[in-house]
Amino acid sequence: MAVAEKAAQKQAQPKETTNPYESMIQRFDVAAKIIGLDEETYNILKAPQRQYVVSLPVAMDNGKVQVFEGYRIIHNTSRGPSKGGIRYALEVNQDEVKALAAWMTWKCAIADIPYGGAKGGITVDASKLSLGELERLTRAYTRAMVDVFGVDKDIPAPDVATGPREMAWIVDEFSRMQGSFQPGVVTGKPLHLGGSEGRVEATGRGVNTAALEAMRQMRLDPRKATAAVQGFGNVGSISAKYMEDAGLRIVAISDHTGAFSNSKGISIGDAIKYRNANNGVLKGFTGGKLISNEELLALDVDVLAPCALENQIRQANAADVKAQLIVEGANGPTTAGADKILQEKGIIVVPDILANGGGVTVSYMEWTQNRFGYYYAEDEINKRADRSMSRAFENVWAVGKKYKVSMRIAAYIFALEKVAKAVQSRGHY
Ligand code: NAD
Repeated sequence: MAVAEKAAQKQAQPKETTNPYESMIQRFDVAAKIIGLDEETYNILKAPQRQYVVSLPVAMDNGKVQVFEGYRIIHNTSRGPSKGGIRYALEVNQDEVKALAAWMTWKCAIADIPYGGAKGGITVDASKLSLGELERLTRAYTRAMVDVFGVDKDIPAPDVATGPREMAWIVDEFSRMQGSFQPGVVTGKPLHLGGSEGRVEATGRGVNTAALEAMRQMRLDPRKATAAVQGFGNVGSISAKYMEDAGLRIVAISDHTGAFSNSKGISIGDAIKYRNANNGVLKGFTGGKLISNEELLALDVDVLAPCALENQIRQANAADVKAQLIVEGANGPTTAGADKILQEKGIIVVPDILANGGGVTVSYMEWTQNRFGYYYAEDEINKRADRSMSRAFENVWAVGKKYKVSMRIAAYIFALEKVAKAVQSRGHY
């Protein structure tokens, strides 16, 4: 317990950083101390196994060649082939991808999926590219990664600004280079190309399951609860829809174009329809009053679901959060500096590496279906995914109780113990 107390003390004084990798390491350090992780395993798990940085020349529509920077970082493969999405965003950089890759390692361990962790990204504003440019960029990235990706090696998936369309291009380019159809090289594919039922909805569905599990522990009735959801892409909009279906009143939603609040509740179906007909953005939505994203985070709601990007809840604004429960649909939405403030306020935080694991869980089912060539119906997939999320939640909750730590640190402890065991039993050399 002395070690745990020391670690908890350290957790109490984290230096504020918006570098996602440092933020990840701050929590990792606390968990490692609590379980007394040996130095060798600590050093192995602290650094990614492999980091690829590639430059991607792409013929643009104006006849010029533009060079983009792409990354693929494999954090750890002790528990299986590496798995992790590909992000297209201007903010993509090596430290962000490193953090996201490590989070995948922990996430797969928590979800009990036999994968390691990886992540990829390209520094690009995808909304500024034409369809043809996007396709050429995605194919260039796939060619650069042909020796990295593989059904039994490294399996990408969608993340911010990528989806089934990009995954289809990756399957096609990779399969052409290998000379055989390899749908299992990537997940999140369109259904007609070996995708899985339920994959598009999987992350949001899991976020809702995690929220309901937490609310059950907190004795909070979903039918009397309100929620605010930040981000209205794949994760945000689908989480909001499932929460609405579970009886929560969604009083605010947002995307990068603005936030909208309505104390009577926003119809998520209408908001999704509006977004789909409006170039994928909420700009101009009339179902709520226009507020700022900062205001959304500070609304007096029961549940706050940050489902956009990193570093949204920081030391500077954590004290303003009024929600009783935060469910992290996004990866890294809370800085380590904000953790302590939220904990002191008694706010339960279901951390990203637990809350958004529903996506990789169904990705795993997609991959197994591709390997078997046998496909399950949607209800079967959803049943398994729901069970898996509830079990993961219970496991992390129990670790939290055992060590008297936040769910975030409990999730790191649970994951670290599992991954460390795999590293140690495979042996160092
Ligand atoms: P997406 O591209 O579909 O949507 C991102 C959304 O965030 C968009 O609505 C965008 O407008 C919004 N956004 C961007 N900046 C914002 C800001 N400053 N304020 C408010 N909203 C903002 O991406 P996604 O797949 O939904 O991913 C969102 C988050 O969830 C990311 O952190 C991602 O890593 C994580 N995640 C995604 C999956 C998945 O299966 N797609 C799985 C696990 C975790």
